[in-house]
Amino acid sequence: MLYKDLVRVYEALESTSSRLEMTDILAELFRSTDCAHIRRIVYLTKGILVPEFCPEKLGLADRLYLRTLAMATGASEAEIRDLWAREGDPGIVTEKILKSKRQMTLFPTPLTLDRVYESLLNIARAEGSGSQEVKMRMLADLLHDSTSSEARYLARIATGRMRLGVAAQTILDSLAQAFATKEDKSAVERAFNVTSDLGLVGEVLCSEGLEGLGQLHVVVGNPLRAMLAERLTSPEEILERMNGRAMFEYKYDGLRIQAHIKDDTVTLYSRRLEDLTTGFPDVVESLKKAFQGKSGIVEGECVPVDVNTGEILPFQEVSHRRGRKHGITTAIEEYPVRVHLFDCLYLDGKDLTMYSLPDRRTALTRCIEVSEDVRLSEARVLDNVDDIEKFFTEALAAGCEGLMAKSIDDDSAYRAGARGYQWIKYKREYRSEMNDTVDLAIVGAFHGRGRRGGLYGALLMATYNPENDRFETACKLGSGFDDATLAELPDRLDHSRLPHAHSLVNSKMDADVWFEPSIVLEVLGAELSLSPIHTCAFGKIREDAGLAIRFPRFTGTFRDDKGPRDATTSQELLSMYEAQRKT
Ligand code: AMP
Repeated sequence: MLYKDLVRVYEALESTSSRLEMTDILAELFRSTDCAHIRRIVYLTKGILVPEFCPEKLGLADRLYLRTLAMATGASEAEIRDLWAREGDPGIVTEKILKSKRQMTLFPTPLTLDRVYESLLNIARAEGSGSQEVKMRMLADLLHDSTSSEARYLARIATGRMRLGVAAQTILDSLAQAFATKEDKSAVERAFNVTSDLGLVGEVLCSEGLEGLGQLHVVVGNPLRAMLAERLTSPEEILERMNGRAMFEYKYDGLRIQAHIKDDTVTLYSRRLEDLTTGFPDVVESLKKAFQGKSGIVEGECVPVDVNTGEILPFQEVSHRRGRKHGITTAIEEYPVRVHLFDCLYLDGKDLTMYSLPDRRTALTRCIEVSEDVRLSEARVLDNVDDIEKFFTEALAAGCEGLMAKSIDDDSAYRAGARGYQWIKYKREYRSEMNDTVDLAIVGAFHGRGRRGGLYGALLMATYNPENDRFETACKLGSGFDDATLAELPDRLDHSRLPHAHSLVNSKMDADVWFEPSIVLEVLGAELSLSPIHTCAFGKIREDAGLAIRFPRFTGTFRDDKGPRDATTSQELLSMYEAQRKT
């Protein structure tokens, strides 16, 4: 196939914004194409060379592309830069430069689809020293042999800007239109959802028809498209949708991970199917230990944790771990994570995606030996509003965003790639941002672990309630301490140590060590939320919950000027919560 025939199709696609027209144009192209070419056409049309989960990526830096274009055409870099500033699109720039600079080649060799594809793949694969020059030369060769309209698309794909506006769904529709009937559309979609490979689906459908598609199965090492959730705002609505009963799970706020495990090899994929493995060697190791089967695919949420308080930290902390190539060992120490698994899609040769959720959960429970770093999602089958609300408050207190409700009906299969009411998220905002510091009294402490072994790892902090002369807990504080402060804490605190909670301290938590309230620390939190385990302003907003400061951090200031009864009052915290919720 000649590349110019594909370019003609691209021009037709660019001239319409109608999805139906795009589908027709592509279906026509697929019908008239040799099956052996379909895969490459599908990839190039999406601006990729291999499915997204494979490592080969195009996306030459603009600076490098500019030099390549100069090399291929003899135009000056300054001229190209000016034109680029005016046009903003390297495709148009390249086309214009080629038109103005081209010296006629007498017998040009027309570009074939295969040559374009293979050269681009070689460009994407080139690495190591001198690879930039190699990439530039290969691309310059292609540009040299291309017509100006061919060059427009070469420039766009090389710089990662293909953007024809063709969605994956449009390609699936056109493949179904070309090789099957409307009724078979769902079989085509399922093949894509379990393989995440549009090119493969196209090739198999063209050469082997629907029967061939039926042979495409879930395979370890090939990520499935993630099942997604709809959103509802009340437990009543959720129960109605779920026929009165559902499995409710904590909704963790982290990074979704699909782990493929086989023969001691673990590969981690993100929700967008990027390979995350190299950034998370600690997760790889702990999953290897936890997984008891021979091969499997499990899914879960990777959350940042404070190893001392055991609490889940803000999502941003885990983002420091993403896409890292260097300094991984330090990052693991600075931003430790834990995985909460919630699904099992494949186990020891069996595709479980068609199984119901309760059956998949059973498989998950059997194949995972829970550890400190690998846990299952907190889950409960519930059928009434009160229990759901209670579980919801618990989830918030544990640092989660809310709940996920999941259907447990017989047809509660794992619907890869689908967003539907089989899974419903429930994240009513019961939080408000904090933008002021508070002064809290130390009433207890927890023994440190890891680097804090032998010291206090976290402190139990309280507000003061003058109405009943009680200290009411509001958070566990573990962040913001430098090594020197941590080391001196026992000296500062131990003279007021008690064998049990002080009689004026109201706590539902069991600290390892208790103190008479005496020292006040300045603390900055990220937000305030409801919590069933903290006693600050308990019952004031909801019957079964108090207020907690989420993600608290010591500012470094000991409020030695304040006695414990000068600490921020529970009423003050309540007004902060209410004021900020209103805004
Ligand atoms: P959202 O990103 O708001 O659409 O919510 C869906 C995301 O919640 C999923 O993609 C997961 O990353 C995440 N999540 C957290 N906890 C769970 C859970 N227990 N079950 C499923 N997804 C979860």
